[in-house]
Amino acid sequence: VEERGTRSTQVRILAYLGTAGAILLWWLSVRDSSWRGNEQMHVLAESVSCTLALTCAAVALIRFFTRRRAEFLLIGAGFIGTGVLEIIHLVASSTLIDLHYASTLSEISPWTFFAARLFLAGALCLSLVASRAEMRGQRKPFTPAQAFIGTALFTLAVFVTIAQLNLPPAYYQDLFFSRPGELLPGGLFALALAGYLVRGRWRHDVFEHWLVLSLIAVTMGQVFFMAQSKTLYGPLFFSGHLIKVVGYIALLVGLFSNVYLVFREVGKRAAELRRSNEDLEKKTAALTRFGQTLQELQRITMTSYDSYDELFADYLNTGCDVLDLEIGIISQVQGSNYRLRAVRSNMGWQPGDEFDLDDVFCAEVITRETTVSIDKVSEHPKWSDHQTRIDTGLESYIGAPIYENREVTGTLCFSTTEMRPGGFDASERDLVTAMAQTVGRLLERERAEIERAELERMKDEFLSIVSHELRTPLTSIRGSLGLLAGGVLGELPERGQRMIEIASTNTDRLVRLINDILDIEKMQSGRLEMNREVLSAAEVVNDALELMQAMARDAGVVLAAATEDTSFFADRDRMQQTFSNLISNAVKFSEPGKEVHVSARREDDEVIFSVADSGRGIPEDKLDLVFERFQQVDSSDARDKGGTGLGLPICKEIVERHGGRIWLESALGRGTTFFFTIPDVPGAPRGETVT
Ligand code: ADP
Repeated sequence: VEERGTRSTQVRILAYLGTAGAILLWWLSVRDSSWRGNEQMHVLAESVSCTLALTCAAVALIRFFTRRRAEFLLIGAGFIGTGVLEIIHLVASSTLIDLHYASTLSEISPWTFFAARLFLAGALCLSLVASRAEMRGQRKPFTPAQAFIGTALFTLAVFVTIAQLNLPPAYYQDLFFSRPGELLPGGLFALALAGYLVRGRWRHDVFEHWLVLSLIAVTMGQVFFMAQSKTLYGPLFFSGHLIKVVGYIALLVGLFSNVYLVFREVGKRAAELRRSNEDLEKKTAALTRFGQTLQELQRITMTSYDSYDELFADYLNTGCDVLDLEIGIISQVQGSNYRLRAVRSNMGWQPGDEFDLDDVFCAEVITRETTVSIDKVSEHPKWSDHQTRIDTGLESYIGAPIYENREVTGTLCFSTTEMRPGGFDASERDLVTAMAQTVGRLLERERAEIERAELERMKDEFLSIVSHELRTPLTSIRGSLGLLAGGVLGELPERGQRMIEIASTNTDRLVRLINDILDIEKMQSGRLEMNREVLSAAEVVNDALELMQAMARDAGVVLAAATEDTSFFADRDRMQQTFSNLISNAVKFSEPGKEVHVSARREDDEVIFSVADSGRGIPEDKLDLVFERFQQVDSSDARDKGGTGLGLPICKEIVERHGGRIWLESALGRGTTFFFTIPDVPGAPRGETVT
């Protein structure tokens, strides 16, 4: 963790020089003093010192385990060792134990002090080495286990060594450095100090700044005070102890500020993470809801409803549920007229209700042609004191324009009388926009369907009027022509007679056409009644042949039949109509001398009829076409063969009304066979076989 700014560099250098200067002054002022302390003072100083050492260890390790950096591990382990060694020193230098147990512990006292110093100095040097290794990219120069086991072994070894060896005396009164041993840890402290100074992080790192301060103090404490101390409890001796405590305090300040900065940053990061997490959660929820809604809306558009009203009602309900609003409206806007097309509300509004556009919030959507949401209507500059708001108490509103064929024709909107705490977000606006687009497409579809149905109705109506208006006068013309041909007004000359016959045939054709048109119109509008009864297949076929016999004879075509004895359930007249259409076609398109064959046979629960000729046949690409109205294979067929193009469509209608199928097989030049089936109606009597 680094502190910003270089403003402090000079201040820091001043602090180092100041500390060094102050210690020097201190040294100068106390070195000749004859003041002497006592054992209690020493015990007190060492107690404070080892407490501080262990505190330093705890804080350094907390720092290390918060965010791992090897130097804090080594400082932590180093201070544990130092703390333990200082406790040994405290015990060794106290006469308390001597009072009860005779021992030589006091003799080793200076060396236990030395050991604690040496250990700390070593640990600080190592921590510098480890930190540099880490900087170079080595991931873990020391593991916690290595550091702690090393510390424990070293501490134990020191204790055993000092207790067991015959150590030389610590004091040499004649020398300038009368306790020369203390120079060794002093040198190591100086080495660490130099290392940290050279590294230069003290400029911007609070911890290293305090570490440098501490190292200046402890190095000088060793060299100027401890190494030169001539007497036990003397002024240099106690000053050395005091400076050690000051050094520890400085280091503790560094450690605390570092831990504080780390925690502050961790806190900041955690807050950031929480915020982005909440953001993400919100977005995910919105997305999930959006997806579910789209699925739901797709379900609605795929479902078939009895009416568009039902569809829109479902649509509005879904929208209200998703947005958690109670009112939903699909409106149609024309000029300043605002009309409810579909509505879900608890305000008593009904589809068809009309309002002035200026009185509704949707006016905003229409003028701006975009999705509009108002979170707090009561605080909205335009709507807050508007009559609509006062009347309805609506507080939250979201609406989107409905486009039909690229023009705005209305609005889709949702609203509520409650204030929404979070307002409407972008995903909700997108949703309403998408819904309005779908509604637009549905309205387009509805309009097209209505238009098509209307057109169909008009055409049918036209056909029926024309047919009726034509049939009545035509029937009377046919009657008059019949009378004329019959000689009611006397014999006509031969040419006159022929003209009358032509007129009569053409009138017959016209009447047939009109009858066909009326039939098919009746069938398609469902107005043709079917009177079903049990019929014998053989009987129906024979009747049909009898009916068509005259026409066949005229054309020189032979009619033949092969029918199974079976019965079926159908409308007798319509069956005759079907057969006469099919047989007359077969005769019309057969050469004289050919045969037309009619058959009937039962297959499971249906009877299959067929009418086969060996005439000119129908080309393959026209096979389906012949069942459509006014379709002829050859455009001259109507004129030459006297057809209307309605025979087969009528057959198809009749067969399908009976629940059957009709189809044909044909080979060009070799003939055509029409088939149709009449299925048994479940529960209908099939009757007895007719012989
Ligand atoms: P139309 O009154 O003209 O016969 P239809 O609907 O009965 O009207 O028949 C439509 C057309 O199908 C006929 O004009 C004819 O071209 C063709 N067609 C129908 N039956 C046969 C057949 N048995 N052989 C050949 N062509 C046929």
